Amino acid sequence: MTKKTNNKEYWVGVDLGGTKMLVILLDRSFRPCGRKRKKTKAQSGMDAGLARMVDSIREVLDEAGVVPEQLRGIGVGCPGPLDLDSGIVLEMPNLGWKNTPVRKSLEDALGCPAIVMNDVDAGVYGEYRFGAARDVRSVIGVFPGTGIGGGCVYEGSVLRGKNGSCMEIGHIPVDPQGALCGCGQRGCLEAMASRLAISAAAATAAYRGEAPNLLAAAGTDLSNIRSGVLAASVEAGDKVVDRILRDAARLIGWTCAGVVNLLAPDCLVLGGGLVEALPDLFREEVDRSVRSRVMPAYRDAFSVVVAKLGDDATAIGAAAWAEHAQR
Ligand SMILES: [Zn+2]
Repeated sequence: MTKKTNNKEYWVGVDLGGTKMLVILLDRSFRPCGRKRKKTKAQSGMDAGLARMVDSIREVLDEAGVVPEQLRGIGVGCPGPLDLDSGIVLEMPNLGWKNTPVRKSLEDALGCPAIVMNDVDAGVYGEYRFGAARDVRSVIGVFPGTGIGGGCVYEGSVLRGKNGSCMEIGHIPVDPQGALCGCGQRGCLEAMASRLAISAAAATAAYRGEAPNLLAAAGTDLSNIRSGVLAASVEAGDKVVDRILRDAARLIGWTCAGVVNLLAPDCLVLGGGLVEALPDLFREEVDRSVRSRVMPAYRDAFSVVVAKLGDDATAIGAAAWAEHAQR
């Protein structure tokens, strides 16, 4: 397939994770027209990692018959910490990256403007532009996974800090005596209610013989107890696992109540693998617990919805933010 090379009318979004990257080519209406998923080779270091990202983008372009001259911009979403203005990834330990000039590398290699942003912010922006929270005045995204990511789009802009991203909902303190968190503090929301925390509690229940279906399907090894396994265990009748999940969802909702009181958003969007595996459970429990805990004036002023873009949200959102940056 060949296309005319007269107009710049494509965007590229990249979801750069610690173990894999997803590249999506989008047309001028942000409809996906090509994609590639690759493992990020952690051991190969910074230069090889950057080259691999550029090569992946070129491959997606080639396969769609698009040349780099047709690209209007590239957006990259990746886990922080970042220097947003310079597009430098300050640290990505899984890739062995430190002070990595992602924006400059892409701009030099492909000859179009690029932006780098937090992956959760990109996902929330994607849902705001094209997904479950389209065109609302303000939306807060909560994505429970290994941690609990948060982001906010407020009157069309992604809320951010001076140099980096903000809305670290997963690190809001919820229990002074709570479990240790990866950030070094104690009792953060994600130490209590992330998939990792849920899986740990479920593994304990399986070990005690309280979750027979989970034990049969996945044993007690934490790394086997992923979102789909938890959902199957609930489906098969493991009541304790159902309770562990609902308790976690309620704690997430309770914490979100504080965020709603601060920002009065129109919409809370819930996403990530755990929510995708158990959308009704999470939406119902979070909805109920937020509403029961917010100030009366906000009780009926927002919706709680489940994300629609799935794994594509970060790449599409990053590309759309690259477009927003050029307005
Ligand atoms: Zn923390």
